[in-house]
Amino acid sequence: MKRVDYHLHSTFSDGEGSYKQIIDRAKKLGLYGIAITDHFDAYDENKRTSSITEEELFNHFDNIRYYGQKIGQRVLCGIETCTDFDGNLRLSEEVIKNADIIITSPHYVEYDGKLIQGKFYDKDYWERYKEKVINMARGKGDILGHCEGYLPHEKLLIPNTTTFEQRQQLSMKIADRFFDNQYIERFIGALKESGKAVELHCITHTPREWVIEKLFEAKIPVSIGSDSHTLSQVGDIDWAINILNKYNAGYLQFIK
Ligand SMILES: [Zn+2]
Ligand SMILES: [Zn+2]
Repeated sequence: MKRVDYHLHSTFSDGEGSYKQIIDRAKKLGLYGIAITDHFDAYDENKRTSSITEEELFNHFDNIRYYGQKIGQRVLCGIETCTDFDGNLRLSEEVIKNADIIITSPHYVEYDGKLIQGKFYDKDYWERYKEKVINMARGKGDILGHCEGYLPHEKLLIPNTTTFEQRQQLSMKIADRFFDNQYIERFIGALKESGKAVELHCITHTPREWVIEKLFEAKIPVSIGSDSHTLSQVGDIDWAINILNKYNAGYLQFIK
């Protein structure tokens, strides 16, 4: 098992540590490799994410590569992005060519229906989410990010009434209610078509363990990511390492 962390955010997007601090931290922790995967999505509602230019991104990559080589830390230049509903990347050829790793994460869902705050278990909305995730699983990109954690339920929440923990619990309840065995089978079928890896999302401990077990049975590769936005979370990957050990699934680990 290689200790890698392939999902990290720096100050280039919404993280608190600079790319140098993150690389230094990885070196200190003795990680085999990391990927700095800042948000890059021209269609994101968050202006800070959607306003980053390709030129800025390529500069960021150059800086990361230079510094990683200088201190001798294996570091990949990645991005985290959402796709359109059909799972298509909306990135230029140049970005695709330059990025070592592309994580596609379902940060939002194209949905025409009306959402009501407080009505968390909106079946139509979650069915639409599931369709999008299956499309994303079948689509391009290296890794499907946090498919059961960080669900896009913010429009269903009453603003400023929930803690991080409560939102995670809500994600779990939604997964248990709607993401059933039949859906997981279709999800795995789509992954088999594309060869895409699924992320073991360490901060939320998702996907659920029975889903991970099925992924392993189907020999779907898995990628380890802390999704850290702070320096202290860099390399918080023990949960994923333990699961890989428990199922003797180290050979399915996505390594680049
Ligand atoms: Zn994300
Ligand atoms: Zn992230």
